[in-house]
Amino acid sequence: MDFALTPEQQRIQARARRFAQEEVAPVARQADESGVFPAHLVPRLAELGLLAGPLEQRYGGSGMDFVSYALLCEELGRVDSSVRGFLTVHASLVALCIQEWGTEEQKQRYLPLLARGEWIGCYALTEAQAGSDAASMQTLAKDEGDHFLLSGEKIWITNGLSARLAIVFATQAPEKRHKGICAFLVETDTPGFVRHPMPGKELGHRASEHARITLEGCRVPKSALLGEPGEGFKVAMSALDRGRLGVAAGAVGIAQGCLDACIVYARERRQFGQRIGDFQMLQATLADMAASVDAARLLTYRAAWLKDQGLPTTRATSIAKLFATEAAMKAASEAVLLHGNRGYSNEYPVERFYRDIKGLQIYEGTSHIQRVIIARDLLGKEK
Ligand SMILES: Cc1cc2nc3c(=O)[nH]c(=O)nc-3n(C[C@H](O)[C@H](O)[C@H](O)COP(=O)(O)OP(=O)(O)OC[C@H]3O[C@@H](n4cnc5c(N)ncnc54)[C@H](O)[C@@H]3O)c2cc1C
Repeated sequence: MDFALTPEQQRIQARARRFAQEEVAPVARQADESGVFPAHLVPRLAELGLLAGPLEQRYGGSGMDFVSYALLCEELGRVDSSVRGFLTVHASLVALCIQEWGTEEQKQRYLPLLARGEWIGCYALTEAQAGSDAASMQTLAKDEGDHFLLSGEKIWITNGLSARLAIVFATQAPEKRHKGICAFLVETDTPGFVRHPMPGKELGHRASEHARITLEGCRVPKSALLGEPGEGFKVAMSALDRGRLGVAAGAVGIAQGCLDACIVYARERRQFGQRIGDFQMLQATLADMAASVDAARLLTYRAAWLKDQGLPTTRATSIAKLFATEAAMKAASEAVLLHGNRGYSNEYPVERFYRDIKGLQIYEGTSHIQRVIIARDLLGKEK
């Protein structure tokens, strides 16, 4: 067993860390406060070969392995989950999904645009009445001969306001549940594709775009089908399986970001005539946090490594997402407490980490749903 990163993985980690620390961290607080995504970072990610990292080189990606991709998501998550979330949707849920399921024509048309950041991608699965139970979706795809008519509503779609390309999931027959679902590549300037910001102010990921998309008789050609008719649920789940790796790595980043901040603060803050880090109770907090960060990181790298070997990863990825997001939730809560009143203000980043982490426990399958997936794999189907 070799725990060492390869020289190439170390190079990608160093590049991602430099970019995150020097270009993302300085704008994260302002982006969170203003609720505006720092779009100038997208061409920079592309220039650095990080925007569509795991995509094959012939489609404009860097062909990085999944361990490198996890390192990248970790470094971004360590400073800003809105930027990390943007990347995992754009790269994992959209670009890699097209690479896996698209026809050669679809790949040639869309992947280079996505890799260069000229087009942004979004993934539209969730509906008001179909969240964890995605197979109960009601958005309809009506076969009209040479085209489909899409009608329905999707909510909470990350990147949904600026995306030029959406993977939209719709059903030909709601009663068939997962067997009736199709995936479509929808260019967002198609008439009948209407989008608005989600109402209300989000708890976290405030710099991310979250859209409500209505499909009002949106006409798409047959060539927009991604995968075969009825294969849409498989397309959706395979994308989430990859996406969850990026979320797990992002959670490792948040937990590490909390630990980094706590170490600095525990060294400098003095009460009762000593550093607060000299109180044994806070030392236990730091030690527990460090142990959880390590465990979450190892589970995440294992899931990434399994993907690189082409081995089954569903259970390992769900375990990584479940453990890493729960560990980061605890780390963020402890980090706010350790910072006292300063942790309660956005003067310090732990306040934002505390708000952002809740989103990671919810999207791409809640913690409950990860447990369902893991338990189903453990128990198997009843004979
Ligand atoms: C910040 C953010 C970004 C998002 N981005 C996207 C996006 O880009 N694209 C997209 O399509 N969606 C996106 N979503 C939506 C997200 O994927 C869903 O919110 C999520 O899948 C949960 O669905 P729900 O909110 O409808 O909860 P529900 O499914 O209604 O669940 C409610 C509660 O019941 C629990 N529950 C449900 N079923 C079970 C079960 N079988 N066993 C035990 N407990 C269960 C859940 O865990 C949860 O606690 C985003 C959400 C957020 C918060």
